[in-house]
Amino acid sequence: MRIIICSVLSLFLAACSSSSMTSSWGKESGKIKVLSTTAMIDDLVSQVGGDYVDHITLISGELDPHSYELVKGDDEKIAEAHLLVSNGLGLEHGASLRYWLEKHPFALSVGDEIQRSFPELILRVDGELDPHVWMDISLWSNAIEPIVQALSKLDPEHASFYRENGAETFKKMQHTHAKIVNLFKGIPAERRFLVTSHDAFNYFTRSYLAEDGEEDWSLRFAAPEGLAPDGQLSSSDIQRIIDHLCEYKIGVVFSESNVSKDSLRKIISACLEKGHPVRISSEVLYGDAMGGQGSHADTYLDMIEHNASVILRDWGYVNE
Ligand SMILES: [Zn+2]
Repeated sequence: MRIIICSVLSLFLAACSSSSMTSSWGKESGKIKVLSTTAMIDDLVSQVGGDYVDHITLISGELDPHSYELVKGDDEKIAEAHLLVSNGLGLEHGASLRYWLEKHPFALSVGDEIQRSFPELILRVDGELDPHVWMDISLWSNAIEPIVQALSKLDPEHASFYRENGAETFKKMQHTHAKIVNLFKGIPAERRFLVTSHDAFNYFTRSYLAEDGEEDWSLRFAAPEGLAPDGQLSSSDIQRIIDHLCEYKIGVVFSESNVSKDSLRKIISACLEKGHPVRISSEVLYGDAMGGQGSHADTYLDMIEHNASVILRDWGYVNE
């Protein structure tokens, strides 16, 4: 009977837990406490750490990770964390958060680790590092190893558990990556041009929309707002996108969940005036944040698959 009760209880707890909330954070649980800046990192931590970690996300929901500044209660979360994992590559540039990323006794930046191992794969936009590495599943899977190592260092007893979970997660990610590569391969190259709200989809474009070995692949993606969406658009930013839409005969622009649609609306009305009709996507893409419950984008892999499905559907190709 006791076993049955425990099983029911663990099922209940599993159903209640989400990537942004675990029940024993704030209490002594004997588990490793891992605080990740974004949900995309937290998802990997939970895959690798399983039941041996308590994990939460600092910047949850639709909040912008680029400019996030600490709010009441964040200091306590950071102080309690045995491990603080960030994206790095300049993503978290809010001064109060950056302070802790530098001061925390065990801080890991997975993006910086990826850059150390594969510097040639890290993109720059106008000389600035592009932090959106999670948008390429294969590249993002290189964040697993540093997480495995960090958890193993804190909890050597379960090192092989973390390693096995890491290997399993890596395999799953490679599988989904290959699936998305193949989905877009079926679309004519002249149709694979993407316009979204901000510069979050460069890695996605290079991996999934470009032709093999294409030198000018970056022409396939454009966004009115830069690497960090701040709504400060000049008329030349708007004009650049209008010209791009007309030049490549693009008829749809994709809004992002955590960015205002204002810039896209301005672009759409200006295009109409020029006689080039453009519409906004039927659903939002998830660039800097995963979706909430019920969005079908509330895990990392579902988020990227959702983006691929929405793009394909709005381009007129059904993804079944
Ligand atoms: Zn971004």
